[in-house]
Amino acid sequence: MLTTPAPKPQTDTTKPVFRRALLKISGEGFCPPGGFGIHARELSAVAGEIDSVARLGVELAVVVGGGNLIRGASFSRELGIHLATADYMGMLGTVINALALQEALEALGHVTRVQSALTISRVCEPFIRRRCLTHMLKGRIVILAAGTGNPHVTTDSCAALRAAELQAEVLLKATKVDGVYDSDPARNAAARLLGDLTYDAVIDQRLRVMDVSAVDVCQQHKVPIIVFNLFRAGTMRRIFLGEPIGTRVGFP
Ligand code: UDP
Repeated sequence: MLTTPAPKPQTDTTKPVFRRALLKISGEGFCPPGGFGIHARELSAVAGEIDSVARLGVELAVVVGGGNLIRGASFSRELGIHLATADYMGMLGTVINALALQEALEALGHVTRVQSALTISRVCEPFIRRRCLTHMLKGRIVILAAGTGNPHVTTDSCAALRAAELQAEVLLKATKVDGVYDSDPARNAAARLLGDLTYDAVIDQRLRVMDVSAVDVCQQHKVPIIVFNLFRAGTMRRIFLGEPIGTRVGFP
């Protein structure tokens, strides 16, 4: 909260393998599996994971999804409203998640900023690349809300675009499973976790890493991707300490 100064996070002197990263947290990170809304336990777990990485001195921008509140495509179908309208509603959902995450991170002593691709000047800054970079260089965690600001795409595309323009050394895609599998692990107990992949393999085999267009942007701009399990405590920090965890795409 802004009113009470939070304790300053203690710096962890371990050297991270990535100095600047773009983290994509899906809306599902804010609620129990299959749930809806924002839940205290999940919110504080997500903030704790981000905290453990920020303490390493990593410059962090976090793109938040909104699937725990509204997914444009299904909302549009169910309510019979125009897809673009439903998508704007979905983008507003990501702003709600961003504000919750901001509070949770500030309670841990971090200085944060929320930047939105849709202008909502009373609650957050607009996304401005240079300003975002300045915040990151000053050690502030920047939470990027409202996706790209355009309907018909998802926050995965936003994550890829922002990773490229902010020159992130890696895009971390947090999921509820350990990485990318050769088939759906929820339906097939024999599904195999895939380790290192090329961008071409992901695109050609339509592996469910991120939207194909997002992977394409990462390939063009040489941003490697790591897909990992957000719900395994400590995983994010281990990734920044160089452990080959999850599925890694586009690493040499
Ligand atoms: N959305 C959009 N444009 C964007 C990002 C998001 O229209 O650039 C909308 C879209 O309706 C999407 C919703 O916001 O379904 C929530 O985002 P997303 O599905 O990516 O959230 P996640 O699955 O990561 O929780």
